[in-house]
Order: sequence, then structure tokens, then C-alpha cells
Amino acid sequence: MARVALVTGGTRGIGAAISTALKNAGYTVAANYGGNDQAANQFKSDTGIPVYKFDVSDAAACEAGIRSIEQDLGPIDILVNNAGITRDGMFHKMSFDQWSAVIRTNLDSMFTCTRPLIEGMRERNFGRIIIISSINGQKGQMGQANYSAAKAGVIGFAKALALENANKGVTVNVIAPGYIATEMVRAVPEEVLKAKILPLIPVGRLGEAEEIARGVVFLAGDEAGFITGSTLSMNGGQYMA
Ligand code: NDP
Repeated sequence: MARVALVTGGTRGIGAAISTALKNAGYTVAANYGGNDQAANQFKSDTGIPVYKFDVSDAAACEAGIRSIEQDLGPIDILVNNAGITRDGMFHKMSFDQWSAVIRTNLDSMFTCTRPLIEGMRERNFGRIIIISSINGQKGQMGQANYSAAKAGVIGFAKALALENANKGVTVNVIAPGYIATEMVRAVPEEVLKAKILPLIPVGRLGEAEEIARGVVFLAGDEAGFITGSTLSMNGGQYMA
């Protein structure tokens, strides 16, 4: 039986590439999303991957969503905590709503999506938890105090969880992407990209979502059992942590 993988925010952007790569690698995949039904339905019809709508910042909704995935597909052995949002602004102008939305979606989701699964992983002596952080959690970023706090927070979470579960066959790792050519980044005007962003990236180009997905497939494998508590920077050399 193929192992079952859940990808949060798995219907668009980097998450969609991760869902597709895991499916192509032979896993049974469930892709979660938050609200964009149109994108999710399109993704489902393009890929055949089932989609599950629940808000990763809502503990009760996650518990219910995860139980329904397990009922449909079987126990979840691989969790990719990918869903994330930005609500940028300089901290001295930031509202508590901006702060809190990002912390709830990007950091509370570590609890809400992992807690319902961790006991089962421990009982089955196998689990792979892969968390998508960001270069901006490693180095900080102007206008992203909320996002940088959350993305740094997930690295601490991963290390603690890795220690707690290392003797149970459950690994916990982080991938920290740099600038990836998703819709959001592609919308940046060409001249801004060339003048301001590409010069920061030694490799000289944006990353592709599929490149991040390759990292996830690698860490998800049964063969990756000796890697835990680590952070894999995938940023074209922009920041060497
Ligand atoms: P997108 O905005 O393209 O996609 C986000 C996905 O997360 C969507 O599927 C969205 O669902 C889902 N989502 C958002 N909020 C929730 C929620 N509350 N509950 C459930 N699902 C939710 O994001 P990216 O692909 O750009 O980013 C993916 C991850 O990678 C994020 O954690 C981001 O911080 C990180 N990252 C991205 C970088 C980049 O360059 N793009 C760089 C570094 C890190 P819906 O479609 O319903 O809105």
C-alpha cells in the first residue's frame, strides 16, 4: 500500500508542486486548501488529487479535516506543513490583525495540523513531517516582522519535535525556500526583478516550485530516516545559514 501524504496549502503555488511530485513518486496524496474553491477544483481536475478544505489556523477544523482524510485514504504517514500567508507592513505601522493572522496561519498551524497525527505516527513507528519555512525566517526581512517571527518559530518547533520523536521513526525537517517563481513573485515587474531581486541571488535566477518539491520528496522517503531536525536552505545561494 502506498503511504498517504497530506500537503497543507497543497492546491496552489509551491504546495501544488509538492502534491504533484509526491503523487508522481507513488504516494497517495491529499491536498488541503483554505478558501479558493475555484483553484482547488481546477487543481483536482488537472491532477486527480483529492482536495480537502479546512482552515489550518482552526484546531477543531483541522482535527475534523484530518480524520476525514484518514477515513477516505488511510493513516497519514507524511505531513507537509506548507500553507502560509503574508500580511506585510513595517512593524511600527502593523496592526494586531496583521500580526495575528500570520502567526495563526503560519505558526499555530504547526500545532493544529501536527497534533492530530503525531500519536498515530509514533504508534506505527514511522512518520515524515516536512515544514516549509522561508529564507526570511532565517535572516529577517523588512516589513515582515510577523512573517519572520512565524517562519523562525517553525524551525524551533521542528528541532524540538525531532528530538521528541527520533526514537519512534518519525523525522521532522524544514525547507527554507528563497525567491520562488510563484504567481506572487511573477507579478513583480520585470525591471524590478532584474534590478532589485536577481542581483541578490548568486545562481542568477528565481527558484522553481518543482525544485522545492524535489527536496520534499527526498525528505519524505523511507531512505531519509537519518535526517532529522535539519533545515535545508533552497535559495540559490542568497543566504547561507
Ligand atoms: P500560495 O499563496 O501560492 O498558496 C498558498 C496555499 O496555502 C494555498 O493552497 C492556500 O489555499 C493555502 N492556505 C493559505 N491559508 C490557508 C489556511 N488558513 N488554511 C488552509 N490553507 C491555506 O503560497 P506559496 O506557494 O507562495 O507559498 C507556500 C509556502 O511557501 C508558504 O508557507 C510560504 O510562506 C512559503 N514560501 C514561499 C516563497 C515564495 O517565493 N513563494 C518563499 C519562501 C517561502 P487557498 O488557495 O484556498 O487560498
